[in-house]
Amino acid sequence: MDPLDVVGNLQKVRPAYQSIVSAIKHDVIGYEVLGRFYDNNESESLGSFFLDEEVPEEFKVEVDQHILQLAISDMLKNDNSGYLFINRTAKQLMVNDGEDLLETLLTFEQRGFAMNRIIIEVTEHDFDQEFDKLSNLLLYYKTYGIQVAIDHVGAKSSNIDRIRQLEPHILKIDTKHIRTHNSEVFQDIMYSLSMLAHRIGAALLFENIEDDFQLHFAWKNGGRYYQGHYLARPHVELLSKDSLSLDIGSKVAAYIQREKLLIEQRLVILTEWEHKVKGLLSKWEGTKKIDEFINLLSHQFNEESFRMFICDSDGLQISSNFRKREKEWELEPRKKGSNWAFRPYFLENVMQMKTLNRGTISDIYSDIETKEMVRTFSFPLTDKHFLFVDIRYSYIYENECLLI
Ligand code: CA
Repeated sequence: MDPLDVVGNLQKVRPAYQSIVSAIKHDVIGYEVLGRFYDNNESESLGSFFLDEEVPEEFKVEVDQHILQLAISDMLKNDNSGYLFINRTAKQLMVNDGEDLLETLLTFEQRGFAMNRIIIEVTEHDFDQEFDKLSNLLLYYKTYGIQVAIDHVGAKSSNIDRIRQLEPHILKIDTKHIRTHNSEVFQDIMYSLSMLAHRIGAALLFENIEDDFQLHFAWKNGGRYYQGHYLARPHVELLSKDSLSLDIGSKVAAYIQREKLLIEQRLVILTEWEHKVKGLLSKWEGTKKIDEFINLLSHQFNEESFRMFICDSDGLQISSNFRKREKEWELEPRKKGSNWAFRPYFLENVMQMKTLNRGTISDIYSDIETKEMVRTFSFPLTDKHFLFVDIRYSYIYENECLLI
């Protein structure tokens, strides 16, 4: 497409809207605005025009301004009170110090379109050059109520300091990465991004959702907003909830039922494990015969565990390790005297067990020694002695409820 054709035929340029759906209201709350060029009843995406580095920034600004004006007019005409997500590169924003966009928005504000309904999407890619200038401009925009989203987050995770500095309202996570990264890697990236979002008060928006698996992933990972072909393709009209490809409410209802069932199953397992230990508590003869006591217990956890030991409430290991490498349990007396209080949540868990007199199960984590993913079941034998039963990964893997 010749860039001059585009700029010279603005009457052929129209916005397309991709619906953005809220996890809270299960409704369309806004639209990402995309550019389309219409010629002889055929439409073409303007993506390549905007990505072409040869096209002067001034051209792009002109076309984008035109699309934005049409989009806001569409919203006003249709009495639509949703948000508009607009894509802008740093270079585009820098043209004329970003005044064109601001002026347009100020004009429309007088016609009843509030500034806080605009969300500017900038990409991490743009942080590489002139970050301070971009950051200052976005801060300036924010004083008018304009919102900021970081687009394509998670492609690389090296920009956490800069994302923090911008304090965006929204982080847009590209769900495509679930397909391209291995899932454990992406799970870890997601974990850091969720923490970051939580700390800076940003909402997570998952985009490019293409199937049920990805929608479920987005829901499970705290996505407040969803976007993608699975929900709605870009459309010339401002779609409402009834025009979405699926009933988001019933989808989420199914996820909730499934999640509750898995949690319930996990609690049943936890209770069974507690019963196994309680059944042997009468054999507890104090710390002098501590290894004999674990020996009895080890037969109860043959299936589930590969390592068991007992600590006091300061995290000091007061028993040997019971360690199963092949079929038999082996004793590792050397481990006695280790201190585990430094481990995350260790003391928190010990105090909870002591106070509530209940067993507990840790999150999944990577074991220091085996490098395998494990979970630890722990139980208060007395108010001073705590049993730790490390559950092997193959057992976790066989029981889906232990994977969540
Ligand atoms: Ca975008």
